[in-house]
Amino acid sequence: QRPVPSDVTISRSCVPIPIECLAEEIGLFSDEVELYGRTKAKVQLKTIDRLQAQPDGKYVVVTGITPTPLGEGKSTTTIGLVQALGAHLKLNAFACVRQPSQGPTFGIKGGAAGGGYSQVIPMEEFNLHLTGDIHAITAANNLVAAAIDARMFHEATQVEFLFRLSKLGIKKTDPSTLTEEEITHFVRLDIDPESITWQRVLDTNDRFLRKITIGQSPTEKGFTRTAQFDITVASEIMAVLALTTSLADMKEKLAKMVVATSRSGQPVTTEDLGVCGALTVLMRDAIKPNLMQTLEVRGVVLGCVFTNYYANHLDRSPLKINYTLFMVYCCFLPVTEAGFGADIGMEKFFNIKCRYSGLKPHVVVLVATVRALKMHGGGPTVTAGTPLPKEYIEENLALLEAGCSNMRKQVENAQLFGVPVVVAVNAFKTDTKAELDLICKLAKAAGAFDAVHCSHWADGGTGAVDLARAVQKAADLPSSFKFLYGIELPIVDKIRIIAQKIYGADDIELLPEAQHKVDLYSKQGFACLPICMAKTHLSLSHDAEKKGVPTGFVLPIRDIRASVGAGFLYPLVGTMPTIPGLPTRPCFYDIDLDTESGEVLGLF
Ligand code: ADP
Repeated sequence: QRPVPSDVTISRSCVPIPIECLAEEIGLFSDEVELYGRTKAKVQLKTIDRLQAQPDGKYVVVTGITPTPLGEGKSTTTIGLVQALGAHLKLNAFACVRQPSQGPTFGIKGGAAGGGYSQVIPMEEFNLHLTGDIHAITAANNLVAAAIDARMFHEATQVEFLFRLSKLGIKKTDPSTLTEEEITHFVRLDIDPESITWQRVLDTNDRFLRKITIGQSPTEKGFTRTAQFDITVASEIMAVLALTTSLADMKEKLAKMVVATSRSGQPVTTEDLGVCGALTVLMRDAIKPNLMQTLEVRGVVLGCVFTNYYANHLDRSPLKINYTLFMVYCCFLPVTEAGFGADIGMEKFFNIKCRYSGLKPHVVVLVATVRALKMHGGGPTVTAGTPLPKEYIEENLALLEAGCSNMRKQVENAQLFGVPVVVAVNAFKTDTKAELDLICKLAKAAGAFDAVHCSHWADGGTGAVDLARAVQKAADLPSSFKFLYGIELPIVDKIRIIAQKIYGADDIELLPEAQHKVDLYSKQGFACLPICMAKTHLSLSHDAEKKGVPTGFVLPIRDIRASVGAGFLYPLVGTMPTIPGLPTRPCFYDIDLDTESGEVLGLF
């Protein structure tokens, strides 16, 4: 239909098939599927055992050039591609996409179910709550936070000791009468409050929680400290979920999370807090993949996991669990998405995700748009909520050609890992054929295996059939996948390799806090973890304003944090807010419920 209706109108115009029918169609047994209403289900983990012997399929990762703040259509292309592979080429293909955070849904960017005629449906189910996995992460994360403060409080006031003594039949009421022997009889974690790295989380963009004071009630006896909230998807528990391979593995990872350091310099873990069993209970359903459908049904979505906000690496990439499930039904092409630009999402996806899952990727789909490339060529700033300047809606081949340098660099980045690249030029209605052809020509000259333009946003799967064919061909090439660095290298060397090879930096500069962490983590035995850079996605460099392919810069590493349970170190490059704020005109202004029909209005 022209003009293309709004995402929610399209989503609603298509009646989803009952999810149990879809499950049956793709070969799941009824006792392997837990229904969450009529359009969503979870797949039980026992399904993996049944499918263990299935041969591996070809693993496709969708990523992009350095985007504008509007997004260049990676989710849309992921869904469009599986619709083309499934409904048109009749191949078994699955999309594995992240669940949207409510931060962007009500904030700036809107939902993440794809768009136009390439969507997960029903989009309001997908964009809001889904099956509650993100809420489970919030609950688990905040239980850890409460456990830390309660532990410090009780240790300091000795109540815990008195309680435990009383359980041993030793009655004391006054902490000051405890003997040294009685005190040392119990494990004191002796957490250094200054060293606490674990924060409370919330799935809302709320800038006023970036710095808070907790413990102000008189009942906390002066135990106040400065703390902060992060967005839920920044929680290490999110990253654990994205990297785990089984319930037992998840429990182990949840136990290893380091939340602080003791005054004597020892790492304090969730296991020390005695909370990991409870965390596993809270997360036991979230680990199960979710099953939904696309507009063209056969492009089934196992919408699973997720983002680490710093670590936007993991977003949209599958658990090994989900991947194994894909193998079943798809046996040909599981398609996943590595968020942001290839320098961020794809690099982490390969170096962290593929390292932990042991799975070899076969094809990179690099999404490019005319508008983003023109921006890299020197076009005016693009901001959400304001109309695009004329350079972006009128043909301008010179601007476009200048900006293709960014695409060339991102193609080269993918090739560093030995994986063939197919460039998908996501066509917008103002793009001209000459512009789209120019991108394809330059992409092939840069070494892409193939480059095609596609119109899946406007046309659904039909518009991505050429892309699907190109991906199918590229997937037949032998995989020569390799990692960029060995994890045994010193922390600083690993960071430097990423900065120089992927971002094009001259060197890195470690600021004092980062140097302190290098020393601390090396001493604590965490140096051999892979690196998950927390850098802006809006530039190849650390400066979001620098477009194209910036050169002549030194990458400043402000601090380094450790996600020991999930299994990576994350250097902070420059300053990145860990909970977004709301813009002047947030998306929530447009969101409403029609109380007559029960329909959600204004989601996109
Ligand atoms: P990303 O995953 O790269 O952040 P999305 O796929 O979420 O981007 O797309 C961002 C927004 O752009 C969505 O609202 C989507 O509907 C819209 N969009 C994507 N491709 C097109 C297109 N070709 N024409 C018009 N709008 C598009």
